[in-house]
Amino acid sequence: MRIAVLKERAAGESRVAITPETVKKFIGLGASVAVEGGAGLGAAITDDALREAGAELGSAAATIKDADIVLGVQAPDIASLAGAKPGAWVAATFDPFRNAALVDAYAKAGFEALSMEFMPRITRAQSMDVLSSQSNLAGYKAVLAAANEYGRAFPMMMTAAGTVQAAKCFVMGVGVAGLQAIATAKRLGAQVSATDVRSATREQIQSLGAKPIFVENVAGIEGEGSGGYATEMSEEYQKAQAELVSGHIAKQDIVITTALIPGRPAPRLISDAQIASMKPGSVIFDLAVAQGGNVEGSAADQVVEKHGVKIVGYSNTAGHLAADASALFARNLFNFLSAFWDKEAGKPVLDEEIGNAVRLTQGGKVVNERLAAQ
Ligand code: NAD
Repeated sequence: MRIAVLKERAAGESRVAITPETVKKFIGLGASVAVEGGAGLGAAITDDALREAGAELGSAAATIKDADIVLGVQAPDIASLAGAKPGAWVAATFDPFRNAALVDAYAKAGFEALSMEFMPRITRAQSMDVLSSQSNLAGYKAVLAAANEYGRAFPMMMTAAGTVQAAKCFVMGVGVAGLQAIATAKRLGAQVSATDVRSATREQIQSLGAKPIFVENVAGIEGEGSGGYATEMSEEYQKAQAELVSGHIAKQDIVITTALIPGRPAPRLISDAQIASMKPGSVIFDLAVAQGGNVEGSAADQVVEKHGVKIVGYSNTAGHLAADASALFARNLFNFLSAFWDKEAGKPVLDEEIGNAVRLTQGGKVVNERLAAQ
């Protein structure tokens, strides 16, 4: 079983899908590991470190040759897979709802695309879930980036020269990223409030010592929502949410938005008029900027200034913590493949529940139910 890892080629991608730790672990399972030279450098992993762990380092062509399984952070394009075994597996993120052409190309080329974003939200798959591992780091980095743009301090400080007021921070969307954003802003000393459409998050917000701000007059999503995910809300709910946010946001210094809906553009949570109601010098970090943005006027990898408010958002927030993000991503991939490793066959054999959820293409066809339902 030959596992290959190419250097990521997407613009701005600094992460890598393997680390010396997971090289050793894959070899421990009986696989061989080939890595393209320089693949780890963006995540502070040298070729020597990978080689010492037992990987074979080489050119892209030598690495991919006869690969049974290719690991990636972002799915490689078809051309770079030339030389891999027919029917090889490619485990990576595919952004499948927005990348139909890439998914079709994988089907046509006969590869088996395994989309890590489609990992089901079940207990035994938690350690394989790249969305969670990357969102957690992104939520942390969002608060640090906002703090960096903010011309004031986060904690209250009582000094001989007078008192510095604590920053007020509002987190919109309390999934994995939002929970980490709340925890990080609290640790920095801000007064934190948060909102979500899923009622289960109210207690989670309170347990982190933050204040829940919820639409009360229109029902949101009961409990966790389907598979832990939100859906698009009714017009009535959106109106009630906009009124609630308008009242609250004008008093905030920092707003972190993290709201996502799988397979849909990110919901619009903050309008230009609402930005205009905020105090000059306030900062908004839009974690959803790459999925269409929660904030009117946000632009990826730019600091946009509107009405004296800075709006920030990265196209790849986890990539700003490439070393930790890669370590967790690589472990997610190892946990996934090793859980299904069949010792006798010397290769992973997926079960239906997880295999069918993540598999996009097989035998020349697109086979995924979630894609078919789109
Ligand atoms: P996500 O990234 O899809 O969305 C981020 C948050 O935005 C969610 O909390 C969502 O409810 C919220 N949101 C969507 N539309 C909104 C709107 N209009 N206004 C305000 N908020 C809105 O979500 P996520 O971080 O991936 O996680 C969602 C849930 O799934 C969490 O409860 C998490 O604990 C759970 N989860 C479970 C597992 C598992 O069991 N294996 C793994 C990961 C996450």
